[in-house]
Amino acid sequence: MSTEKKKELQVAALENGTAIDHIPSSQLFKVAKLLGLENMNNTITIGNNLHSNKMGNKGMIKISDKFFCDEEINRIALIAPNVVLNIIRDYEVVEKKTVTLPDELVGLVKCNNPKCITNNEPMPTRFDVIDKEKGTIKCHYCERKINKEDIIVK
Ligand SMILES: [Zn+2]
Repeated sequence: MSTEKKKELQVAALENGTAIDHIPSSQLFKVAKLLGLENMNNTITIGNNLHSNKMGNKGMIKISDKFFCDEEINRIALIAPNVVLNIIRDYEVVEKKTVTLPDELVGLVKCNNPKCITNNEPMPTRFDVIDKEKGTIKCHYCERKINKEDIIVK
């Protein structure tokens, strides 16, 4: 069997929907959480630790009949900045999208500071993205800076 064919078979084909590719394996389940997949009724195929020439290992998520808006997608830029979204219609990739980090993240990330008001009051967290390249964010309330590696997704 050809390598191409094997690659295709790693994750089942999608008729219509979105295939999110090049997810770092270690971030796959965080990505699933950020996208709210656990609350969706769509058919979802998740593959992890798939072979990738570029990355060694990668994860992939395919969601049938789901086309994300940019706001939904950009959330995952936080933890998986190099993902590629393949928009699929009738088994063909009609568009490829990359993600960009938004300027502000509301209600997505937990503040690492236990004394922060957001950890003590029932309110959404709010972070300003201060370095899009490095993925550094800053809490709007207590000004705690959090690096990408330490981000805890709510
Ligand atoms: Zn805070």
